[in-house]
Formats: sequence, C-alpha cells, structure tokens
Amino acid sequence: MKRVSVKARMALWLTGLTVCLAALLVGFLLSISSTVAARNAAAQLEGAVRSNAQAVRLVDGKLETGSDFRFYQNGVTTLVYSGREALLAGQLPVAFPAGVPFQSGTTRWVDGADGQYLALDLWVPSGWEEGVWLRGILPATDQRQVARRLLGVSLMVLPVFLLLAALGGFWIAKAAFRPLDHITATATAISEAKDLTRRIGIPPGRDEFSQLAATFDQLFARLERSFEAERQFTSDASHELRTPVSIIRGACEYGEKYDETAQERQETLAMIRRQADSMSRLIDQLLAMTRLEQGTERIRLEPMDLGAWAGDLGQELDLETAAAEGLFVRGDPALLERLVRNLAENARKYAKPGGAVTLTAERRGDEALLTVRDQGDGIPAELQEKIWNRFYQADPARSGEGDGGAGLGLAIVKQIAQLHGGEMTLESAPGGGSAFTLHLPLAKNS
Ligand code: ADP
Repeated sequence: MKRVSVKARMALWLTGLTVCLAALLVGFLLSISSTVAARNAAAQLEGAVRSNAQAVRLVDGKLETGSDFRFYQNGVTTLVYSGREALLAGQLPVAFPAGVPFQSGTTRWVDGADGQYLALDLWVPSGWEEGVWLRGILPATDQRQVARRLLGVSLMVLPVFLLLAALGGFWIAKAAFRPLDHITATATAISEAKDLTRRIGIPPGRDEFSQLAATFDQLFARLERSFEAERQFTSDASHELRTPVSIIRGACEYGEKYDETAQERQETLAMIRRQADSMSRLIDQLLAMTRLEQGTERIRLEPMDLGAWAGDLGQELDLETAAAEGLFVRGDPALLERLVRNLAENARKYAKPGGAVTLTAERRGDEALLTVRDQGDGIPAELQEKIWNRFYQADPARSGEGDGGAGLGLAIVKQIAQLHGGEMTLESAPGGGSAFTLHLPLAKNS
C-alpha cells in the first residue's frame, strides 16, 4: 500500500465504500420488496379465494356458482373440487402439479414445473357431510420478477456508479493534490538549481494547500533574504579584511625599497601596526557577531538592577550618567556592556569633539530605557534605517579615522538588544545630536 499514491488510495477507498453501500442498499431493498411482495401475494390470494367462497354452494349435490364467482381474478386461479377431491370446475394451470394434498386455510408454496406457486385451500361446507374444496393458485413469477428486475437494474446501474465514484474520487484527489505536486516541483527545482528566486505562486485560497504554498513561498523568500545577507556578509567581510592586508603589503614593499632612515622605517611600521590593529578589531567583531548569531556565545540572562549597573559603567567609561533606581531587568551584563561601549565609541567618534556624551537609565511604563546621547551632527532621516546594517558606514572616511570601525558596531548593538528580547530605537535630528535607546522589558517585581 505504501507505493500507491494518496490519490489512488482515496479513489479506492471511495469505490470500496460505494460498493459496500450499494450492496447493502440492494440487499435491503430486495429483502423488503420480497417480504412485501409475499405479503401482498398472500393477501391477494386469500382475498380472491374467500370472496369466491361466498359465491359457491352445493344444492342437492350439484355445484352452483354465483355471479360473483371469478375463476380468474388478479392473477389468482380458483378451482372447485368435490369432497372426494375430484375437480368440479376451473382450469388447472398446466405447470401446477396435480394431486397436491388439500389443507384447509394454510397458504403455502408449491413447486410447479415452471416455478413456484402460492396455494390456498378452503373447505366450504354445505350441510353436515357435504362440501366443496376451493383451491386458489397464484404463480410466484410476478413477485419474483420484481426482485429479479431490481437485481438486473442494479447490476446495470451499479458499475456505472462505481466507475463514477472511482473516477470522481481520483479526479477530486488529483485536483486537490495538484498544488502539492507544484510545491514539490518548485522545492525540487530550488534545491537542484539552487535558484532561490523561484516561488510556487499559487493564487491565495482558503484550502490547506494554498496556505501551505503561501507558507512555503514566505519561507523561500526568507531563505533567499538570509542567503543573500550571508553572501553579502562574506563578501563585505573579505573586502574589509583585504583592504588593510593590501595596505600592509604595499607598506612593506615600499619600506623595503625606499625606507632608508630609522625614522622612515618607524613611520612605516606605525602604519602597519595601525592596519593590523584595525584588522584585529574587525576580526574580534566578526567573531563576536558570529558567536552571538550561532549561539556559541550563550546569552546568560540574570536579574540585575539596570540603574545601579549603568551608574557604575558610566563612571568607568567616563560618561555623564543619570540613572533611576530599582530598574530590575533580566540581562547579560557582559553583553550589555559591549552594547554601551559600542554606542559610546560611536558617540565619541561622530559627535563634536568635546561634546558631552550622556548615559541615562529610566523607567517608562513597563520598560526600562537605557540611552546613550550625544550632541553631534545627528543622522539624516534617510540613513537612520541603514546604519543598523552590517558594514554600513555613512561616511567611511570618517569611520576609518581613529579606531577604524567597519560598520559592525551598530549591527552588534541591535543583535544584543534582540537577544535580550528588547529593541533599539534612534532619535536624531540633523544638528540636534543622536539618542540611541535600548528598550528592555522590566522584571515583574520592579
Ligand atoms: P562604524 O562606527 O564602524 O562605522 P557602526 O555600525 O557603529 O559602524 O555605525 C554605522 C554608521 O552609523 C557610522 O558609520 C556612522 O555614519 C553612523 N553613526 C553611528 N553612530 C552615530 C552617531 N552617534 N552620530 C552620528 N552618526 C552615527
């Protein structure tokens, strides 16, 4: 059964069910119709014989039949026999056996040459000793024929129904499963051709398969986005690493050829060192991000007082700090410190030199807010979405100065916020400084 498709199985099941139902129905009809027919026949026979019994008399040993007497009525043949069982009147059906013993009042089946007969005898007394026998005979063929016709009709009609059930079942199953074939084909094409841009594209509907197809399409779209992001990430990362490496190589070659004085060599070495430092920072960041992403670096959430913690950290990082008390959250202090450090570094890098950088921790509704604010030039509205992307730098020349970031700082910040079940928001206006805020859910008891 395993190899048979679901479609065929459904069609088989439907056909089987139809066969059983039809057989049951025909059997039921046959049994009912034969009982009813037998009862009708018996009633018909009895009615005819009894009405004839009213119309027959023996007058001085001579048979007299009244005008109501019918030798043949409703298929019932009535015969009159003498007390000694000699036929007095009536025509015995040819196929009915002669010499069937008389039994008064019982309707019974008698086998004839051409089938069965229903027979009923009645003793009609006349005086003390005398009397006549009435024998009514009704051929069974009539009722048997009904049953046979019913069976014949069902045998003719049933195969048609069965065929319809099988074809219909198969067709419906096939139509219903068509989207599934489509889904399979698309998934196969995607996996074989590694073409993630393909979609199943079944028009939306309410049946399960359209929903499945839509879900798959969403899945493919997400896969495509994440593969694209991955590809972009790898290419950006290699690019970012290649740049300092080629600067270092260039500097070495130049130094070997042209550096003569100790001073010149010193300068070249300093440049090489700066590039090596920037590479090392980049590698650290890449590693941190990958570890966070792959879950190698487990986030260890613990209950903490965000206000007190921010007060200590602000002091350590030399930030102006304003922290409310009793902001209990669940957080990973090491990761949160990395988040604040990244934001503070950016604030120092991009804000006006000497401008104040503040760290605040406060409560708003059922959230704790941790904000790093600077007095810098702000970030243009159209860039505010993009700066969270990996390797995005609004002004690479500027980022490159000093500690040479690679556009990963904010991506890491965002990732840490998400790992805490929180989110980052940015408020910034050109010339008005920027405020990066982490929103964290407050613990229940704070
Ligand atoms: P990086 O600092 O290495 O360039 P980030 O991801 O930390 O990378 O920042 C991305 C970009 O966002 C920066 O290049 C900068 O243009 C912008 N940016 C970040 N913080 C600030 C800030 N406080 N003020 C102005 N611009 C900022």
